[in-house]
Amino acid sequence: MPFDDALDELYREDILYYSQNTRYRRELKDPDISNSGYNPLCGDEVSLQLKVEEDIIKEIGVIGRGCSISQASGSILAEQLSGKTLEEAKILIEIFKKLMHGKELSAEELDKLGELEALSGVKKYPVRIKCALLAWATLDEGIKSYKK
Ligand code: ZN
Repeated sequence: MPFDDALDELYREDILYYSQNTRYRRELKDPDISNSGYNPLCGDEVSLQLKVEEDIIKEIGVIGRGCSISQASGSILAEQLSGKTLEEAKILIEIFKKLMHGKELSAEELDKLGELEALSGVKKYPVRIKCALLAWATLDEGIKSYKK
């Protein structure tokens, strides 16, 4: 899918940069959490694998295809959550959902966004919000079934 020309120039470069990051594009052996997601609106696919030890995310592998927003979002997810606890991951998932749904974030929440800020311009384009959230919703489900 072609990149949305209307996206802010500032963010577009960041999104392209992250979408081309291949650092986490790998399959992990015996992952503790493994889940895939699909966004029928755009055709994006993402498959996440995590190694978890004592609730700390040790390694993340993200394999996917689709638009640059969905791919950038997956690589930012891996970058930001490697080494974090599952609890911290859940907090960031909620903050990012709030941002994408146009809700106000507190200063503390804005602080936690980090590189995800590059995707904040996407909220102005309702059809692309699912692209940005795909990897995060997929992780959310994966964590929930791991916790059971
Ligand atoms: Zn997409």
